[in-house]
Amino acid sequence: MGRILRALAGEGNLRVVAADTGDVVEEARLRHGLSPTATAALGRAMTGALLLAQLLLKTPKERLTLRLEGDGPLGGVVVEADPMGGVRGYVKNPKAEVPLREDGKLNVGAAVGQGFLRVDRALPNGEIYTSTVPLVSGEIAEDLAHYLWQSEQIPSALLLGVRVKGEGEVEAAGGIAVQVLPGASEEVLGRLEANLKDFGPLTERLRKEGLEGALAALFQGLGLERTDLRALGYAENEIPARFRCRCNREKALEALVFFTPEEREDMIVKDGGAEVVCHWCGAAYRFSPEEIRSLVAEVRCPDCGALWLYPKADGTLFRIEGDTCRCGRRVELPGERRAEA
Ligand SMILES: [Zn+2]
Ligand SMILES: [Zn+2]
Repeated sequence: MGRILRALAGEGNLRVVAADTGDVVEEARLRHGLSPTATAALGRAMTGALLLAQLLLKTPKERLTLRLEGDGPLGGVVVEADPMGGVRGYVKNPKAEVPLREDGKLNVGAAVGQGFLRVDRALPNGEIYTSTVPLVSGEIAEDLAHYLWQSEQIPSALLLGVRVKGEGEVEAAGGIAVQVLPGASEEVLGRLEANLKDFGPLTERLRKEGLEGALAALFQGLGLERTDLRALGYAENEIPARFRCRCNREKALEALVFFTPEEREDMIVKDGGAEVVCHWCGAAYRFSPEEIRSLVAEVRCPDCGALWLYPKADGTLFRIEGDTCRCGRRVELPGERRAEA
């Protein structure tokens, strides 16, 4: 299990979030069968999303989705995190690999490529804030810091690291985010900059000194003080971080609504049923002909009953236009998770 800590430093003007995500990233690697560079890319993105969720989200129900839409061989990286330490994610081409950099490190920037970083924040009322910024390097930490500055006007420093060994097994992974608040003095900033310069690779620190040791080194002379998370409503003074998917059998079955009844009958005849694989976590759900035939042929608004989706007589699907129902509710169609894969 991973863990997340929060702290203040620099006379309360540096807001710090740190995460040890070794186990979380290893689970993602095993679930998706990731190549070493895909492990590093997804691991950095998942860790970054967990840190950003702490910095940006205000209530447990909010969620944050990062999409690295680059033109590199990975074909895109998508992760979703919540402030309770839950995170899930996938890479479009999990086996893609690129040559190592000249210094022998995994070349995440080349694997991600050039393109855009899109961040969606889902609020408890169903509203979604989206912002998109160009990718700076595809190395992810830099891209997320650029996003924080461009879209949220938050000056920050971000360290993210994933180290793999042998067959690609995760040896260490984690991240530290520092948000610089407006009251930070020149002295505090100078000290932080000097500490960052001497810090070296984060995964090296995590391996040798652990998360607490890494934090002590980075904030040496800056008076680091752990935030009491219990006072903020968490069960412990650290937040457990886990690979956590929100899929289940019921939702997986609903995903089949996006096929027409004829297509579904076809699956029954050809395959004796259907299998739905969750692209977020790799879980496979197998359905019997009876279950498939039990599917409702239409989706209606739970609030006002307006038709959102139904198969038309010509075999195509009617889908409600726009993202908002006539009653104001945000339209959520079960099959759209599939359309994203
Ligand atoms: Zn899943
Ligand atoms: Zn409605």
